[in-house]
Amino acid sequence: MYFRQAPGSHPAQYLGKLQMPRKRLIAANWKMYKNPEQTSAFFRDFLPAIKDHTRDEIVVAPPYIDLHAAVAAAKGSNVSISAQDVYWKEEGAFTGEISPSMLVAAGCTHVIIGHSERRQYFGETDDTVNLKLKAALEAGITPIACVGEVLEEREAGLTEDVLRRQCVRAFNAMSAAKAAKLVIAYEPVWAIGTGKTATPQMASDAHIIIRAEAAKAFGQEFADNLRILYGGSVKPDNAKALMSEPEIDGALVGGASLDPKSFTAIVKY
Ligand code: PEP
Repeated sequence: MYFRQAPGSHPAQYLGKLQMPRKRLIAANWKMYKNPEQTSAFFRDFLPAIKDHTRDEIVVAPPYIDLHAAVAAAKGSNVSISAQDVYWKEEGAFTGEISPSMLVAAGCTHVIIGHSERRQYFGETDDTVNLKLKAALEAGITPIACVGEVLEEREAGLTEDVLRRQCVRAFNAMSAAKAAKLVIAYEPVWAIGTGKTATPQMASDAHIIIRAEAAKAFGQEFADNLRILYGGSVKPDNAKALMSEPEIDGALVGGASLDPKSFTAIVKY
């Protein structure tokens, strides 16, 4: 059973266990924006602005075509590079796809899996999310697995059911040891790119549901250590309120991550 922490308390204090705090992760999802030249320009401005920032882990996920420029620019810095998707096969006749080992070879350490735009427009399902998660973990890449309800589901009171289903299927046939690097992003679909943000309380409540599913699948210790990010119209002016929730372990940021100044402000919330 998972108990909600008192706001402001440390997870370890609340659970009465000796446990390291979860390091927050702030990730940029650039979606289909920027070319290699624009990628290099972003890092020229961004890296000096966050060079001493150690409080949070920082990840940038550009389009595939920009990975080379991003990895080269971020080399030796405190920024890790992520892909926005991956296929689960190692190699073969799969035109247009990229395998986990290709991402590793390109210098990626993270990959976003199951983003709602992939689910909405490109046929991603809970089952393909599961296959992709297992393949990424097997290759040693940290997957950022996205879950979240659409507006109709929230309005029909189905948020909890949807999150539970997405988690159960995503975690299918996976061991706690194999899943150790897993990161989840709670992204209510109605908040993505719309300017509507879940309140810190709404996000926190969803994170508690996700953490409870992780505890069922992998055990309480795993769940206590699992980082769950919030994504959906995170901006410089709402980042602090969201990050102040003990249940929120970071952010997945779309639109506001494209500008180095605004992403810096979010990183430094
Ligand atoms: C996203 O793309 O994951 C996202 C949360 O986008 P935005 O911040 O623009 O809502």
